[in-house]
Amino acid sequence: MGKRATFRFYAELNDFLPPARRFADCVRTFLGSPSVKDVIEAVGVPHTEIEMILVSGESRGFDYRLQDGDRVSVYPMFEALDVGAASRVRPEPLRVPAFILDVHLGKLAKILRLLGFDSVYENDADDERLASVAARERRILLTRDRQLPKRRIVTHAYCLRSQQPRQQAAEVLRRFDLLSLAAPFSLCLCCNGRLEPVGIDAVADAVPSGVRSRMTSFVRCVSCRKVYWPGTHYDRLERVACELLGEAAAIREPQSHGKQRPHESV
Ligand SMILES: [Zn+2]
Repeated sequence: MGKRATFRFYAELNDFLPPARRFADCVRTFLGSPSVKDVIEAVGVPHTEIEMILVSGESRGFDYRLQDGDRVSVYPMFEALDVGAASRVRPEPLRVPAFILDVHLGKLAKILRLLGFDSVYENDADDERLASVAARERRILLTRDRQLPKRRIVTHAYCLRSQQPRQQAAEVLRRFDLLSLAAPFSLCLCCNGRLEPVGIDAVADAVPSGVRSRMTSFVRCVSCRKVYWPGTHYDRLERVACELLGEAAAIREPQSHGKQRPHESV
């Protein structure tokens, strides 16, 4: 006879459940004493999405061994609620946000670089490489693949909900509260290298003569040496950056009113 535990997933963790099973108790049967993390991931929720686990009202870690009759409440990251360091299952947030994106997120990578967020993107990186770079360089893994964040070595990840790059950027800004850290035009859109100001003499070979005569300020990528200057393309990007940051600020405002207690967050 198997043992049983009842799970309840809160707020956006329900995105990972089939529609019919969202916002409802879910009974799982099990043999032996599996870790709560393994059972949660078997249900479909990646461990990287989880902030806190309560078992029969007590805060527990991922390695907690399930017992017959346990009642498990699983909570996502709380943007507006301080649950206290002791009860978090996720490691402390990474201080300087840096990302690595899977092969389907090239457009999002460019938007994040445009806003000044360190974003590694390789169009041929396999899952193994994504996970190992994320772990080694302490980068947050961004993906729409719900299996990838379940890898054991991945500690910080976010599963994007939208398929639209600008909406994805808004999700990332909101989820990691990045608005105040944006530094548009500090990173190369092509290679993620740092941009530094350079004088006209240093870029004479890389800039058309028509531009040289009109412009005085240039920035150059320290890695790939690409030169950027204010112009049509730059102006368009600047508008995109401003719009995105404005949209993120507008979304953020209403959220600050909703300081919900965990049991109210469904
Ligand atoms: Zn570059």
